[in-house]
Amino acid sequence: MDILKEKILTEGIALSETVLKVDNFLNHQVDPSLMHEIGREFQNRFEEKGITKILTLESSGIAPSVMAGLLMGVPVIFARKRQSLTLTDGLLTSEVYSYTKQEINKVCVAHKFIGEDDTVLIIDDFLANGKAAEALIHLADQAGAEIAGIGIVIEKAFQEGGSALREKGYHVESLARIANLEAGKIEFVKEKEH
Ligand code: 5GP
Repeated sequence: MDILKEKILTEGIALSETVLKVDNFLNHQVDPSLMHEIGREFQNRFEEKGITKILTLESSGIAPSVMAGLLMGVPVIFARKRQSLTLTDGLLTSEVYSYTKQEINKVCVAHKFIGEDDTVLIIDDFLANGKAAEALIHLADQAGAEIAGIGIVIEKAFQEGGSALREKGYHVESLARIANLEAGKIEFVKEKEH
C-alpha cells in the first residue's frame, strides 16, 4: 500500500534493527485519513470472506479496525489487556508476551460479543513474532468462531510471525512489509502491489 509505505519512510523512525517507531500516525498521534485508507484496503482484501466481526487488541489496533469496521459494516471488538471491574463474568482469556514492553499481558474479551456464528477478521498494528495474533486467534477459537484472516498494518517480515501464521494456513494480509531496519534505514519487501 503505497501511501502507507511513503508515510513510514517519511515519518517512521528505526529505533533499532528490530523496532520501528510510528507514533506520528499510528501508535500515539493517529492520522484519521490514513486510517480511512487502511480501512478501505482491509475491506478490499477481505470483502469476499463474509466477515461478521473484527477482533483487535487495545490500543493501537483500534484505529485501523474501527475504520475497517465502519466500511465493512461490522462491529469491532478490542481485546482488553487488563480485566476491568465491570468486566468479570463470561470472559474468554489468553496471554500475550508483549514485544515492545517485554512483559506478559493477560488479554480478554467478553464471550457475549463473539460466538460460533461469527466469521472474524483479526487486525493488528504490527506483526513481529506473532504472539499478539496468536492470542487473538486463541480467543476466537475459544468462542468457536471462524477466522477469515489476519490483517496487519505493518509486518516486519524479517521476524518469524508472518511465516509461522501463513504456514499454519492463516490468510495474512499485511499492508506494508518491512524487509529490514538495518543502519536506521527502512527497506520494504519487494512485491507486487495489490
Ligand atoms: P508480536 O506479538 O507479533 O511479536 O508483536 C506484535 C505486537 O507488538 C503489536 O501488537 C505491536 O503493538 C507490538 N510491536 C511489535 N513490533 C513493533 C515495532 O517495531 N514497533 C511498534 N510500535 N510496535 C511493535
